[in-house]
Formats: sequence, C-alpha cells, structure tokens
Amino acid sequence: MPDVVVVGGGAIGLAVAWRLVGRGATVTVVDPSPGSGASCVAAGMLAPAGEAQFGEERLLTLALESWRRYPEFVAELELATGCATGYRESGSLFVARDVDEWAALTREGEFRAGIGLDVVAMTSRECRALEPRLSPRIRGGLLADGDRQIDPRRLLTALNVVCERDGVSMVRETATLACDGDRVTGVTTPERGQLAGDAVVLCAGCWSPLVAGLPPEAVPPVRPVKGQILRLRSREGESLTGHMIHGRDVYLVPRGDGRVVVGATVEERGYDTAVTAGAVHDLLRDARELIPDVAELEVEEVEAGLRPGTPDNAPLLGWSAVEGLAFATGHHRNGILLAPITADVMAALVCGEVMPDEAAPFTPSRFATASTVPA
Ligand SMILES: Cc1cc2nc3c(=O)[nH]c(=O)nc-3n(C[C@H](O)[C@H](O)[C@H](O)COP(=O)(O)OP(=O)(O)OC[C@H]3O[C@@H](n4cnc5c(N)ncnc54)[C@H](O)[C@@H]3O)c2cc1C
Repeated sequence: MPDVVVVGGGAIGLAVAWRLVGRGATVTVVDPSPGSGASCVAAGMLAPAGEAQFGEERLLTLALESWRRYPEFVAELELATGCATGYRESGSLFVARDVDEWAALTREGEFRAGIGLDVVAMTSRECRALEPRLSPRIRGGLLADGDRQIDPRRLLTALNVVCERDGVSMVRETATLACDGDRVTGVTTPERGQLAGDAVVLCAGCWSPLVAGLPPEAVPPVRPVKGQILRLRSREGESLTGHMIHGRDVYLVPRGDGRVVVGATVEERGYDTAVTAGAVHDLLRDARELIPDVAELEVEEVEAGLRPGTPDNAPLLGWSAVEGLAFATGHHRNGILLAPITADVMAALVCGEVMPDEAAPFTPSRFATASTVPA
C-alpha cells in the first residue's frame, strides 16, 4: 500500500486521509492550521439539489451519491470516535414571498421531483402550521424532507479524532511540493524537511493553486469565492424553526439547540475575508423578512470563508497532469456534502484502482490535455 501525503486538513483532506488509512495506506496530513479553512465556516447543509443549477446534472448525480452515503459515513465516524457530529435529517422548507418567487419555486419543485427527490408544495397556511414563526407574508412553500444537515465544526473534530486513532500522522506546517524531474515525490516543510510519498493529494481548498512548488502545468483552476455568514442564538436555547428555511437570497439553518446559522453571500473578491456591514445588514434584513423573530436573537459570530470555486462549479477529483500528484479540491459550495464520496473515490484511485464511474466526469483533465498516473 502507498505512502501518501495529503496537503490540507479541511473536511476534504481529513476525510480522504481517513479512507486512505482504512485501506492500509501510510498517511501524513500536512496543514499549518487544520480545520481553519472554509470547512469551519460552512453552514453544513446536505442538500444535493439545493445548490444545483441547470446544466449541472453530472454534479447533481455526484452530490446525490454522496448524500446517499452520508448516513453510513456519519454512523461509522460517530461510532469510531464517540463524537456527535450534529447530523440531522431536518428537511428544508423553501418559501416564496411573491408570485415571481412562487413561480421559481414551482420550477424548483418540478426539477426535484424529476430527479426522484420527494417534494411537497404547501400553501401559506400549511407553511405556517409547520413553522409558526414564519412571516404571515409568505405566499407558499416547498417542503423537501430529504435535505439534511451536519455541524461542520463537529465533523472536523470527529475527523481529526478518527485520523489520530487510525494512525494518520499530522504535521502542523505549510507544505511545499517536492519534485524529482517531472514527478512529485512528496512535500517539504520548514521544520520537518522532506516528507516523501508515493502520491501527494492536494486538498488545500481555495489555496490549492498557491501551494509552493506546483509545476506550472499542474496549477489547478481554483479560485476563492467569498461567503459571509452569521451565527445567531436564542437566549433560552429554544429552536427558531424545525426545518432549514430557504428564501431567495438567504437561508437559515437551525441547529436544534437555539443556534441558527444565517447565510450566505457569494462574492468574487479574491482572498479577502473581511466581514462587511453591508453583508451583515442584507443577511439580517432578508432573514427577518422570512422569520421576524430573528431580530430577537443574539449575535454569536460573524465571519467570512473562502469556497474553492472552479470554472464549472464542480470539484477536481483525480490525477493531475504531473505524475504522483492527485487533486481533491474545488468543491465550491458543496464540500461538506461531497466529503464522503470524495474520500471514497480518492482512496480507491490512490490505492491503484480505476476511477470509480461516478467521479469520472470530474477528472482534472477536463481543464487540460494530459493526466498521469504514478508508475
Ligand atoms: C459561507 C459558506 C457556507 C458554506 N456552506 C456549505 C454547506 O452548507 N454545505 C456544503 O456542502 N458546503 C458548504 N460550503 C462549502 C464548503 O465549506 C467547502 O466546499 C469545503 O469546506 C472545502 O473543504 P476543503 O477541505 O477542500 O477546504 P478548506 O476547508 O478550506 O481546507 C483547506 C486547508 O488547506 C490548508 N492549506 C492551505 N495551504 C496549505 C499548504 N501550503 N500546506 C498545507 N496546508 C495548506 C488550509 O490551512 C486549510 O486548512 C460553504 C462555504 C462557505 C464559505
């Protein structure tokens, strides 16, 4: 079994490391600050159709497969670690405030039903019977009971624990790729020096193209997509809603213990993570229009994270154009949802199997001409 260096200890890198070590590989994760990237900012919605756009059917297929694998992935992780991940089958309620939004929701309902997901159209009265705190101005809604959620910070804790338990080495340093001729042979770090590997898996999220030592032909087409998000909490610990609530420009994810995540902006601002007054204002305004009681909640945290975006919004999974280097990056808005399938396909690939069918459309070669498997 191979010696593998995983660059990046976010949800993707840790999940890949866990699945690799489970197959008998020797694994080192290198990250100066594991769990500090987009994964710890994410809302944690596991909603395969929620973020899908027309023309992204193949991504949707991958997301659905990962969603199907989630219950087993979480059960195994929680059993192995004793850590609760906040995984909940809470369902989503998409709501419309006017006829235009209702027309958009109707199309969304047809799309979801067409791919076999359960959806139920609801009148305004039915929505408010289900979620009494919804504004009386809501015109109607769409109930998607299959949507789920997880607390990404708890997921990261559990993944760290299981990696440690299963013998993954953690090196808290910045990795520079090491090459011998036209082959990647491992990484170097300031303190530890050379860490050799039969394969290196690049899981550095939006920082993937910035990792030092990347040969020019293997720089992944990944860019940061800023997302600002709020964490609110009720003083009494009472849950605002049972379901995740989605409006046109905002979503609310109740954790079930009085905490609510309100998100998120989508901004092209490079590596800027400043929280702006305008974004906080807009998120709170939009959230209050759906649930007026949001105004009573305490603000716990406001922050911005950087999604790893790609030109087609889909991840890069597979061998790069340089021998010995694989990519598991570019998960954009779905990295928490896609963690189980990413981990399974990358572990299979790095251990010498052919790319599983479900991941074949996401090989990095779709943006380049060559792809090289290690000898
Ligand atoms: C506001 C917001 C809301 C979101 N909501 C959801 C959601 O509801 N559901 C969902 O599925 N997804 C969501 N996402 C997307 C999700 O967060 C990302 O797709 C996912 O976290 C990407 O994980 P990652 O492990 O690839 O990257 P990251 O979590 O960013 O981790 C990358 C890691 O690489 C490390 N690194 C960087 N450079 C180096 C180097 N040179 N050497 C070593 N390590 C390095 C960093 O320290 C970091 O720990 C959201 C994102 C944002 C910003």
